[in-house]
Amino acid sequence: MDTADYLRSHIRTVPDWPAPGVMFRDITPLLQDPKVFRVLIDTFVHRYMDPTLRPTVVAGLDARGFIIGSVLAYELGVGFVPIRKKGKLPFNTVEETYELEYGSATVELHTDAVKAGDRVLLIDDLIATGGTMMAGRRLLEKLGAEVTEGAAIVDLPELGGSAKLRDSGLALFTLIDFE
Ligand code: 5GP
Repeated sequence: MDTADYLRSHIRTVPDWPAPGVMFRDITPLLQDPKVFRVLIDTFVHRYMDPTLRPTVVAGLDARGFIIGSVLAYELGVGFVPIRKKGKLPFNTVEETYELEYGSATVELHTDAVKAGDRVLLIDDLIATGGTMMAGRRLLEKLGAEVTEGAAIVDLPELGGSAKLRDSGLALFTLIDFE
């Protein structure tokens, strides 16, 4: 079994959650098994240890992006910064609002989290419509940083988010597709 199939076999699909008709891809079984968790993190570490791709900072998207992003940053020997849902960060922030299927969401980043010249890896567990990752990228760019790549465990290509992100010029690295 290749790595993608191995990891895919540890993702649980929960139908009709959080709303009827949604097939939620639950990554918690990947984290729960220490052997699988190691394969998952090592796959990212292997890629981003490469000197041409190595970031100066890892930025994680609330909340599952924190779990993988912080371990990855630790292994790479770089800092980790959280991009949080509005109202959670205590210091001065920049914010971005983006549209959801119903309503909108706002994410925030501390103004001193990154600086001009930083090469940031932006990470989350999953890309659906791409709105969350796009907003995260805009926050980092507002502070003058360059987002060198977006990464996620899962891509849902049928929702068009990864294509939209790539069209906007963002390089993406994802491990598993779900149709
Ligand atoms: P997007 O902004 O790309 O539409 O949605 C991605 C965000 O929503 C990510 O932060 C991700 O954690 C969350 N998300 C949406 N659908 C799923 C899903 O099926 N599984 C998981 N694990 N997260 C999801």
